[in-house]
Amino acid sequence: MSAITNHLPTAELQALDAAHHMHPFTTGNELAEKGARVIMRAKGVTLTDSEGNEILDGMAGLWCVNIGYGREELAEVAARQIRELPFYNTFFQTTHVPAIALASKLAELAPGDLNHVFFAGSGSEANDTNIRMVRTYWAMKGKPSKSIIISRKNAYHGSSMGSGSLGGMTYMHAQGGMPIPDIHHINQPHWWAEGGDSTPAEFGLARARELETAIGELGEDRVAAFIAEPIQGAGGVIIPPETYWPEIQRICDKYEILLIADEVICGFGRTGNWFGSQTLGIRPDIMTIAKGLSSGYAPIGGSIVSDEVAGVIGSGEFNHGYTYSGHPVASAVALENLRILEEENVIDHVRDVAGPYMKEKWQALADHPLVGEARIVGLMGSIALTPHKESRAKFASDEGTVGLICRERCFANNLVMRHVGDRMVMSPPLVIQPTEIDTMIDRAGRALDECYAEVKSQGLF
Ligand code: PMP
Repeated sequence: MSAITNHLPTAELQALDAAHHMHPFTTGNELAEKGARVIMRAKGVTLTDSEGNEILDGMAGLWCVNIGYGREELAEVAARQIRELPFYNTFFQTTHVPAIALASKLAELAPGDLNHVFFAGSGSEANDTNIRMVRTYWAMKGKPSKSIIISRKNAYHGSSMGSGSLGGMTYMHAQGGMPIPDIHHINQPHWWAEGGDSTPAEFGLARARELETAIGELGEDRVAAFIAEPIQGAGGVIIPPETYWPEIQRICDKYEILLIADEVICGFGRTGNWFGSQTLGIRPDIMTIAKGLSSGYAPIGGSIVSDEVAGVIGSGEFNHGYTYSGHPVASAVALENLRILEEENVIDHVRDVAGPYMKEKWQALADHPLVGEARIVGLMGSIALTPHKESRAKFASDEGTVGLICRERCFANNLVMRHVGDRMVMSPPLVIQPTEIDTMIDRAGRALDECYAEVKSQGLF
């Protein structure tokens, strides 16, 4: 076989991809027919594909490239660390400087007494850690019956057996034997889709109180923890009504249920603070982290844990860990990423510059005939596509049909945005500048116009 390099023609790369590469969350045979888009390189907020198209990445990869693409410093640090110590484990009473330094830095950045880090290779692995950690915590405290974890429908917590079970995606549960036992899902605070005639405030309270009802029904002596994303990401960037989180916090406190905030998307500046928990006023016992921790430059995740939880877990052996827990290269890269976020004031940029600028432009998209609501916190936003704004109606077509048209029109206009059903979501690199925001919104507007024309021509509007 000849060498497979950047110089091969697109069609050849696509054919090899189709023949040998299985893609996540994809209908493989359909993609094989069509051919995957081949991304060659990237700089700042811009991707270049094999045809030379320059595409504005409105998703920061998969919500992760917070510092933008092409930062040489991370390449340097990775190369240096590979030369010095490419791997050593943190099992069997050993440690190394990158893991020590990264854990210490995370303890400094994390709110409250979240001072201890258990490393993983991804968000999914970290949430699997959390399942075992909270159950073990209660067992070590002499309450082994407290094993149920309450989560939410339409939550996303990962794709492994444990984390996929925590998640509330029914289409995932339909494959491969999920959920695992003792996971319970309550309804999500998605006012636009499910709020009916109630006000957002009433609805937020009602949905939060489902947690109290569930604890009552399952039994206080059975419930270990509640897990949620501060703002649901993959579920459609669903920003809960303001009444929601204070009530959830009250209930967790009252029943002494551990609160796990899944910060995999919201963490590291996405919402204009270091963590979404700070923006939403949440006091978690455990935070799940990944993605923006290394800006996606290296695969790494983890759980940041309170003094109390770490103290109890430390009282016995925790029979859990991954070969790559605290991987030295990934840790060094993550640490350098945090240095850049901090020294270049990227979080201030989100809060004071890019966030407010984007908010104004993003919310103006709600004037488009196809857009029902446009919501945003920091630099994560969503728009609801609807045939009728006032009634928040759904399209007559299968859910996701119009969203897919819109996503394709975005691509055609050199913009990456994702659709979740008939909702469009965005999450660009946090370093995006106002002129780039102008370009992004301009392309999104054109995509919406083209989508609108197509939806009308199909009689869906
Ligand atoms: N939690 C949340 C909130 C996520 O958004 C994701 C990934 N989209 C995960 C967990 C899983 O992370 P990973 O894909 O790194 O396993």
